[in-house]
Amino acid sequence: MSNETTLRGLPAVHRFLSDPRFAAFDAFFGKDRVKSAVNDVLDAARRSGAAGATFDAIAAEVLERLQREWFDTLVPAINATGVLLHTNLGRAPLAQAAIDAIGAASRGYSNLEYDLIEGHRGSRYARASALLRTVTGAQDALVVNNCAAAVLLILDTFAKGREAIVARGELVEIGGGFRLPDVLERSGAILIEVGATNKVYIQDYERALTPRTGLLLRTHPSNFRIEGFTAQVEGRDLAQLARRAGIPAVEDLGGGALVDLQRFGLPHERTVQEALLDGIDLVTFSGDKLLGGPQAGIIAGNERLIARLRNNPLLRALRVDKITIAALSETLRMYAVPERVTEIPFFAMLSASLEELRGRAKHYCDAFPGAKIVESAAYAGGGALPAHEVPSIAVALPARSPSDLAAKLRTRRVPVVARVEQNRVVLDLRTVLPEEDAQVLAALRELAA
Ligand SMILES: *Cc1c(COP(=O)(O)O)cnc(C)c1O
Repeated sequence: MSNETTLRGLPAVHRFLSDPRFAAFDAFFGKDRVKSAVNDVLDAARRSGAAGATFDAIAAEVLERLQREWFDTLVPAINATGVLLHTNLGRAPLAQAAIDAIGAASRGYSNLEYDLIEGHRGSRYARASALLRTVTGAQDALVVNNCAAAVLLILDTFAKGREAIVARGELVEIGGGFRLPDVLERSGAILIEVGATNKVYIQDYERALTPRTGLLLRTHPSNFRIEGFTAQVEGRDLAQLARRAGIPAVEDLGGGALVDLQRFGLPHERTVQEALLDGIDLVTFSGDKLLGGPQAGIIAGNERLIARLRNNPLLRALRVDKITIAALSETLRMYAVPERVTEIPFFAMLSASLEELRGRAKHYCDAFPGAKIVESAAYAGGGALPAHEVPSIAVALPARSPSDLAAKLRTRRVPVVARVEQNRVVLDLRTVLPEEDAQVLAALRELAA
């Protein structure tokens, strides 16, 4: 390679621009941006008097800058952590049919808020409602931005300036800054805590009822577990008490299972249908947790109460876009046909057998000398079933510095996010989609070299 340098001893700009590693960024940032990144680093080297800086040293710094800039955009990443609904990595991957529906609905125009039969304005909120009624058995349903928004809308509608009764043990923070007591306060509801941290009885709720009570709220404790000497109030009992008091019983399920997770080897998790059958008036849950769809907050339940939610002006600020409606509707359609549920990646990943994972893991081992197949534990994530280990298979990569190797995997054009444990880097196969294997193998071969 020529060792062409500028007058001041630094490598010439054109040498960088013709390097294939830089050319890869041209398509994303444009040649000018790449060139100015090179110039910035060269200028800095000149100013700091590092006139003798080598081509490789300058190139490494420019590449790091471009890589950082690349990560400022939303980029696809490969999840090898074994946490299926990893909130930091975007929770549920979508089914192909849902992805196609996004394309179809967003490429041009749609009937988002247009009634094609009548030829006039229609309701965007009607879109997913019919499917939700079919799938959950609820009288009606409404979709907003996320589950936090669903809870907020309900509190604002039924408990503003009134009292909301919640068990002390359910006043949880579920991560991402969603603390139930804070949301209650911001909604203008007055929080009435009942019971002790570990025990609450229906009489506690009953005694707390006043003419100012707006609703009774039950929440899924998410990542939090109270074990041992505990007592909780059944959804059915809470619903009955609310009925007698003439106020709504609300349950924030968070996860939002629509099928019995035992079908997929997980412990049973209370489903939306069960909460509704218990007589809960309004059930809230996320679209991108156990449901396996896009980010959304779903409220299912009593039609009269949902009509009041629809009339709340706050709904306008929480409304979902066409992309969400398209993906959610398509995902819900899969629940209407039981054998289609495994098209949803969350369930496909749970269903993969250990033999399948082991077969794929062998290829990983071939690509990285010293790599070993190990047993692993995957987790559902998303606040659901935090204590349940899903048996899995992983590949352990030996490394002098595991944190360096993990960083190298993470900072590739297609990042691979792994776990670091016991002085090695571990890639859990359960959360790597089979179509991503080729990219993981390429990464392993490159890093092994
Ligand atoms: C995850 C969760 C939420 C928040 O859901 P988002 O869709 O992320 O807003 C609310 N309540 C419970 C119990 C949860 O587990």
